[in-house]
Amino acid sequence: MADIEVILGDITAQKVDAIVNAANSGLLGGGGVDGAIHRAAGGALLDECKKIPLGPRGRCPTGECAVTGAGLLPCKKVIHTVGPVYSGSACDERLLQSCYRNCLKAAEKAGLKSIAFPCISTGVYGYPKSAAAKTAFKTVRETLRETPSINHVLFVCFDNESYRIYQELKDSGLK
Ligand code: ADP
Repeated sequence: MADIEVILGDITAQKVDAIVNAANSGLLGGGGVDGAIHRAAGGALLDECKKIPLGPRGRCPTGECAVTGAGLLPCKKVIHTVGPVYSGSACDERLLQSCYRNCLKAAEKAGLKSIAFPCISTGVYGYPKSAAAKTAFKTVRETLRETPSINHVLFVCFDNESYRIYQELKDSGLK
């Protein structure tokens, strides 16, 4: 089973095989972590994103993901996933679970062994931090049983509150 690490930091600096981008459905960059990743990666990343075949109406469906190269970033690949905009309904959790699960499965399929996640949907998309963190841990722990090649998962928190929540969940061994 992979080891899970929690850090406070900038995901663009992580030297892992893949970092996950909390993208919007157009996959063409935006604010928050998406903007930071595109800025650090340079224009090659946007050029690659423009070539990703999208679903109906030119959108990547919520919960799905797409893998690209990483431009100037120190990682090998970027996995772009579209988190749910928090609505307070039951589908939020299901869609957030899909993000984490699909990213791990895509990483496994691409032969990537280490992966860093941001706190998907907890910025502009408004998902409550604690609930999102519980879903992240539970889904990652469950999915890792099906992705034996992945040996390292890094949760990268960008604010102290998220970092504290993630550390508590890691220590509690919540399943
Ligand atoms: P979303 O639209 O999915 O809510 P945001 O980018 O607004 O995406 O926020 C998602 C999370 O990413 C937030 O917790 C935010 O603090 C965090 N974040 C923003 N910039 C970075 C960064 N450079 N590295 C890691 N996490 C970041």
